[in-house]
Amino acid sequence: MATLQINDLHVSVDTEQGSKEILKGVDLTVRSGETHAIMGPNGSGKSTLAYAIAGHPKYQVTSGTVTLDGEDVLAMSVDERARAGLFLAMQYPVEVPGVTVSNFLRTAKTAVAGEAPKLRTWVKDVKNAMADLKMDPAFAERNVNEGFSGGEKKRHEILQMELLKPSFAILDETDSGLDVDALKIVSEGVNRVKSGGDVGVLLITHYTRILRYIKPDFVHVFVDGKVVEEGGPELADRLEDEGYDRFVNAPAPAA
Ligand code: ADP
Ligand code: MG
Ligand code: MG
Repeated sequence: MATLQINDLHVSVDTEQGSKEILKGVDLTVRSGETHAIMGPNGSGKSTLAYAIAGHPKYQVTSGTVTLDGEDVLAMSVDERARAGLFLAMQYPVEVPGVTVSNFLRTAKTAVAGEAPKLRTWVKDVKNAMADLKMDPAFAERNVNEGFSGGEKKRHEILQMELLKPSFAILDETDSGLDVDALKIVSEGVNRVKSGGDVGVLLITHYTRILRYIKPDFVHVFVDGKVVEEGGPELADRLEDEGYDRFVNAPAPAA
């Protein structure tokens, strides 16, 4: 049983006009085995939250804490975060020239596990995980992200998650740009990881659609850099019916 805890997190980003505060005091606790949906309008800071937890250098934590079982995540390097069990798909969004998916996955697994996986079982694991995600075996020999379609990027994300077996996975807009068939395949992958162990999932999304396939235990509504409402799965149903207007236009609570 592990706990990822975010306390009063404030994050700023450098812009051409100077530093701008995006996250304005985020509180969130995710325990292993739980799935939390973070939902909110575009520009509310959802990706900033993911990047800050990932340790992206562009996002400065100005105050607050992120801990994993009491350990200070913000003091860890990006690699240390991965070894501690955090999976952040957006950590490697760029093309990696000349590195095949197969080599990339093996390097990532070695870095996270602290030793190289046994070749024979590893090859089988990769093959099975790719088959589960209905990926062409030839995909393993392509260079990472080079010419990947939106759907291929998302499947590659879930493939990494299935093979790296994190204790916490942060999935940012995993549903964006997927047609219904791809969405189902990707969601099944997430559900396999969930059922296979005690992973905690932070599912960041603008739309409620993916929540038909991946059932959240908790839903947090994110507006203007903070959580403004929390509830169970029924909150997602309300958002589907009512949208975000109610939260966006609500008067700010007195400080
Ligand atoms: P969301 O993921 O909810 O759509 P983001 O976290 O991407 O929101 O963005 C929140 C706000 O922060 C937006 O106003 C966006 O323009 C700004 N922002 C995020 N990242 C950067 C950046 N690297 N440079 C400048 N502004 C940024
Ligand atoms: Mg956005
Ligand atoms: Mg975003």
